[in-house]
Amino acid sequence: MHVPLVAPFPVYRPRRLRQSPALRELVAETRLEVGRLVLPLFVRPGRKLRKPVASMPGVFQLSPDELVKEAQAAYTAGVPAVLLFGIPDRKDERASGAYARNGIVQQSIRLLKRELPELLVMADVCLCEYMSHGHCGIVVQRRGKTRIANDPTLKLLARAAVSLAESGADIIAPSDMMDGRVRAIRTALDAAAFEELPILSYAAKFASAFYGPFRDAAESAPQFGDRRSYQMAGANAEEALREVALDLQEGADLVMVKPALAYLDIVRRVKETFGYPTVAYSVSAEYSMIKAAAEKGWVDERSLTLESLLAMRRAGADLIITYAARDVAGWL
Ligand SMILES: [Zn+2]
Repeated sequence: MHVPLVAPFPVYRPRRLRQSPALRELVAETRLEVGRLVLPLFVRPGRKLRKPVASMPGVFQLSPDELVKEAQAAYTAGVPAVLLFGIPDRKDERASGAYARNGIVQQSIRLLKRELPELLVMADVCLCEYMSHGHCGIVVQRRGKTRIANDPTLKLLARAAVSLAESGADIIAPSDMMDGRVRAIRTALDAAAFEELPILSYAAKFASAFYGPFRDAAESAPQFGDRRSYQMAGANAEEALREVALDLQEGADLVMVKPALAYLDIVRRVKETFGYPTVAYSVSAEYSMIKAAAEKGWVDERSLTLESLLAMRRAGADLIITYAARDVAGWL
């Protein structure tokens, strides 16, 4: 640990540097910049569709034409990247929509890359939004028990990743938490001549109650059981470091910790241990709790949002994925 060397009072008076906004800004150790924010967006088939997500005020399920408008507004405000989630018309037991050439996200990426070529498009890779049962992998019955089959799922994830790459995605972001998925995806991308395409792995993704409102937004709640057999237990920090190490060895270029606010110790340790580009995903309930309390007049939305996101940067996050990206761009 680095112990700061300080002169005793009254030689050292910390308040000298807090006297004015200009002085405080001059010595700020951490800054929140709009160029480090990523806006998640939800897309579903249709035209001129902006369907509000009840549990996330200000967030909508958008048809591709409206998605372009939303992405354009964010980009114009300085947000460099969006992260796409799809809500397909039909779901099945093989998650076909996740790797369909004309899948909703595939179509949307082509459209975004045509209309806004400079905007970075991150494509979430998972199966839950496309599976009739809502789990992130293939469900099998084994010895009378329902299980999520790891290795057969990898093939579908790799297929989805290649399909999103072919559509023009700039970054592939697997969120499923199957073991070995980064290697499977890296291998498949390389074989399809996408060896230059970066992977942002949801490396330390914890099973969390903070995802509640997202499931409304993405219509991806599991129909039975929960995700605790593949997402991490909140108690485990050492295991999070092993997860990150594994993903980096398998070829991840950026690594994510999700959720953000309740897991800032993990963000800090991941950044300090590996030094890779580290991404914090400030998840749906982190956003909705502030919105709800602000609607009641109990908190100041702007200050609370900015303070929370600054804390993520201070903890070591290089990038922050947040539903508030556009609001923040306006405030900064
Ligand atoms: Zn999933």
